[in-house]
Amino acid sequence: MRLSRYFLPLLKEAPREAEIVSHRLMLRAGMIRQQSAGIYAWLPLGLRVLRKIETIVRQEQDRSGAIELLMPTIQSADLWMESGRYNDYGKEMLRIQDRAERAMLFGPTNEEMITEIFRAYVKSYKDLPLNLYHIQWKFRDELRPRFGVMRSREFLMKDAYSFDLDEAGARQSYHRMFVAYLRTFARLGLQAIPMRADTGPIGGDLSHEFIILADTGESQVFCDRAYLDMRVPGADVDFGDGAALARIVEAWTTPYAATDEMHDEAAWADVVPPARLSARGIEVGHIFYFGTKYSAPMKAHVTGPDGRDHAVHMGSYGIGPTRLVAAIIEAFHDENGIKWPRSVAPFDLGIINMKPGEAAVDAVCEDLYARLGTAGFDVLYDDGDERAGAKFAAMDLIGLPWQVIVGPRGVAEGRVEIKNRADGSRQTLTPDEAFNRLLADGTAREPAG
Ligand code: ATP
Ligand code: MG
Repeated sequence: MRLSRYFLPLLKEAPREAEIVSHRLMLRAGMIRQQSAGIYAWLPLGLRVLRKIETIVRQEQDRSGAIELLMPTIQSADLWMESGRYNDYGKEMLRIQDRAERAMLFGPTNEEMITEIFRAYVKSYKDLPLNLYHIQWKFRDELRPRFGVMRSREFLMKDAYSFDLDEAGARQSYHRMFVAYLRTFARLGLQAIPMRADTGPIGGDLSHEFIILADTGESQVFCDRAYLDMRVPGADVDFGDGAALARIVEAWTTPYAATDEMHDEAAWADVVPPARLSARGIEVGHIFYFGTKYSAPMKAHVTGPDGRDHAVHMGSYGIGPTRLVAAIIEAFHDENGIKWPRSVAPFDLGIINMKPGEAAVDAVCEDLYARLGTAGFDVLYDDGDERAGAKFAAMDLIGLPWQVIVGPRGVAEGRVEIKNRADGSRQTLTPDEAFNRLLADGTAREPAG
């Protein structure tokens, strides 16, 4: 992509209402534009990051055996009357009337709708387990939308729903999602810690929030530092091996980790003081088992091996891709801007032409641009005629993992410079060496093991 033909509306200063760094940087880097409170348009640069996150989320859902479908944003209130939630949900739900004065709503979540789809088709335990997910916009009329896309009213969610014959089966489905979540967040470059969360009236131990530690997080959390050194399962993890998954979940739930609401002072006292980490955190995912809460009132039954009818046991599993864009920036930035992990960067690298119009410089830039593109890199080529300082600042702000800087003096000596955005290191190389160096680093890959 040539910057001169791209749509990248950078801002010199962030609007005053942006309170946290991710919100400021997303506005300054031209990633989002507010349309009304808590409702944002995704501009091209922001959309690229969002799509990359979605892709990783989707790949790991698919790997775990979940199956994608797509449900509508607008739902009929009838479904919610069946489950009994229509009146309970309160003001967070955006209620709408269509022209025939039927009660509709903009979905804040999809338990009812997926249960309706399930019960229409699945009648036998032989078709279980089943886990269906979609990645769709949600609307919740949050009391206090704030921090940009971190807590917005309209936001994207990956929500999966598992169906099993009994609790034992549901536990296995829960484990599969738990492990898929570990892998998903690691591939996004994040260290997400699964923390015990409230299970409400269902009780039990099957509810976890996945939390990223960050000073700007809205939750107070308490956990063992041991989590910071734990390695997530590799791509070869066998989602068909229930015992292996149970062992992984066991390992990841043994050290202490709880949010404020679930904090247990007695258990905390058993964590040795140097290992105690009390911090702020951002919830990026939430998984829970809720038994027959929806299947019983909505009559989602299957015939079991005993020939009798059973209300299916369900779980639901959410991830917020739009919130994740902000959470990743909270984790990866410096005073000059964003430092994208390679797996979600909007472009793999940027080429800065320091002297557009000078034939020798243009030739080196064009050649690298073409070769890197052919090699599979997504390249943003700054071919515009801003002054050098502004170009450097813009490239640092948008945070692409690598910069290739091509100027007249270097070109005269047969050299270009490459800069790594994450650590600021620079190398002066021939254009061929630079190409090979970038090639060796590769495009977004899966993390090893
Ligand atoms: P919170 O406690 O932050 O309001 P929640 O418990 O309401 O979250 P869930 O219903 O479990 O969240 O939704 C699943 C995921 O959707 C969350 O983990 C989060 O990543 C995302 N999410 C929820 N609400 C919002 C929001 N208002 N803006 C952006 N993302 C959100
Ligand atoms: Mg909420």
